[in-house]
Amino acid sequence: MSEKCNEVLAELEAFVDGELPSEKMGEFVDHLHECPPCLHRADFQAKVKEIFRKKCEKTSSSPPETLILRVRQTIRSEVRFTDEA
Ligand SMILES: [Zn+2]
Repeated sequence: MSEKCNEVLAELEAFVDGELPSEKMGEFVDHLHECPPCLHRADFQAKVKEIFRKKCEKTSSSPPETLILRVRQTIRSEVRFTDEA
């Protein structure tokens, strides 16, 4: 895992939310192209966001904090699994 991977991982949530400045966004995409594990993480994070969005649309309320925490833990274990593989 390179230093760049750590950087990408730290800002993955902002990236998926589209909150990164365009300059950083380009760097991010470049890295994802050359680093399949990071691409996998980004893809997973995007899927989680999508599930959240659908859930919120149905209930028209924010997901409970406990659910957010559980998903964060899932993301962490997923990332660990990817690193070991
Ligand atoms: Zn990477």
